[in-house]
Amino acid sequence: MSDCIFCQIALGKIPSEIAYEDDQIIAFKDIQPLAPVHLVIIPKIHLRSLNDVTSDNKGLIGHLFSIIRRLAEEFGVAESGYRVVTNTGTDGGQVIGHLHFHLLGGKALNANIG
Ligand code: 5GP
Ligand code: ZN
Repeated sequence: MSDCIFCQIALGKIPSEIAYEDDQIIAFKDIQPLAPVHLVIIPKIHLRSLNDVTSDNKGLIGHLFSIIRRLAEEFGVAESGYRVVTNTGTDGGQVIGHLHFHLLGGKALNANIG
């Protein structure tokens, strides 16, 4: 998707601070961090949101979560705790229409998630 910011990041056409990359996924620092650790993890294929995920994607999503766990360790928040969020659709607060997961940590996060 040529008009999708996260596809452009995945293709390296928009620069980002990359924390992890392989053939299926890429993780980069959020440009407007909401916590000391704030990474965005995306599949490279353009899925619009969690609503596009089916059992066909279970390998991809399982892999993605295993990398999130590894990144939590690498960024030093595995023990102190962290939050993984995927905003979905308008009411979910999704701004970028390419499936992504936020990894937030490094401070005590507000317990109010709604
Ligand atoms: P959403 O609200 O869609 O769940 O979150 C999108 C996130 O992407 C936001 O936290 C925003 O700061 C981040 N973001 C938007 N554009 C860019 C960009 O060009 N580069 C990076 N690194 N992050 C971005
Ligand atoms: Zn995209």
